Amino acid sequence: MNTLFKALVLFAFTVNGVAETKQPHPKVKLDFNPPHKLTCDFEDVIFNSNYETGRISSCEKLASDHYLISTYPENKPINPSPWYGFSVTSNNENAKQIIVEIQADNSRPRYLPKLSSDKAHWEPMNFEVVQGNLILSMTVGANKSVQYVSAQEIIDNAMYQQWNKKIADNSSFELQTIGESVEGRNIDALIHTQPDNTEWLFIVGRQHPPEITGALALLNFVEALLGENTANTQLFERFNILIVPLVNPDGVAAGNWRHNSNGIDLNRDWGRFTQPETRVVHNKLGELMRENHKLVFALDFHSTQQDIFYTMPTDYIPIKHKRLNIEKGVMPNLFVEEWLSDLKQETVRSFTVRDRPGSSPGRGVFKQFIADEYGVHAVTYELGDNTNRQLIKHTAKASADTLVNKLLNTDASQFKIQ
Ligand SMILES: [Zn+2]
Repeated sequence: MNTLFKALVLFAFTVNGVAETKQPHPKVKLDFNPPHKLTCDFEDVIFNSNYETGRISSCEKLASDHYLISTYPENKPINPSPWYGFSVTSNNENAKQIIVEIQADNSRPRYLPKLSSDKAHWEPMNFEVVQGNLILSMTVGANKSVQYVSAQEIIDNAMYQQWNKKIADNSSFELQTIGESVEGRNIDALIHTQPDNTEWLFIVGRQHPPEITGALALLNFVEALLGENTANTQLFERFNILIVPLVNPDGVAAGNWRHNSNGIDLNRDWGRFTQPETRVVHNKLGELMRENHKLVFALDFHSTQQDIFYTMPTDYIPIKHKRLNIEKGVMPNLFVEEWLSDLKQETVRSFTVRDRPGSSPGRGVFKQFIADEYGVHAVTYELGDNTNRQLIKHTAKASADTLVNKLLNTDASQFKIQ
């Protein structure tokens, strides 16, 4: 987007006196691909999405204290995950109630609104859904400082950088920038190695920007691996670990619904590698899996409507094995089934472990690519959008503990086809 165009659009939205429209809920028609970083200055109330993860595609004042905010996707077709994020400020000396209505392009609300004054502590907001729009009521003014409304908690690039550094400073993980995104943001990896280790565990996350519960699960999972206990010590003694917590930094910065800044779903690009983000991660993996090094298992963290583990079917024969004319499934065949059964026992009555085996060859999905290329299991670890955050942490710890035990109890030979 060129600056002049941006300025024009900003000007258009900052002109006061937008005609008041009769309710209910007009649909805003936009005949251009809108920017998503806007300042909408209605004098007494100002909405702004000009920060990482912020997203407003248009604003309108419908009545004196009633505002309509729209969010549009980066491009189409797209999986409908209408993300929104904006700050609200008011210079009013007296407190007043306003109604903020959030309209998504052709889709129903997926994320329940949250409120924060510091982007760190979030509270659920009361809301209603009327004709597919989210209706929020909030108090502004009375020197109330800035408030943030967001589809989910904010985890932006800066927060990942801080977290990565904290992990690297306090563990054997080394922090490495392994490449750049389309817009030149760093793609960072945490890498643990020991000279004699040849087996690798591989973890990726945040291919899809709005999937915060999956992002939280990844952070919790890695922190659980770093908990001090004998099993974790043995894990680090035997295995190397590659973690890429944020595969789509541009999408996160933009507040995208799903894609990277080329408008591509990164979790449909594995095997094709048309995008710098997937290429960078794949190149690093290739570089590490040299000589006798062996990937043994991979995890990819996401969010969807409910908690689900998408797994490889036990009867699926990877492309790698077919090429070698070996009629063997993913190695070791029952590894994931047994891991999830252990997890089920650990979390019984607090969490529902749903194991959904499936294969989708050629569709560019990470887990499928890993199974086909390396002949080992990979799992898409999905959290529900609204899963309780403490339960995500509890389950991530149980997942990590049971997985570590499963890895330690599996002999290196069992990950190989020969
Ligand atoms: Zn996803």
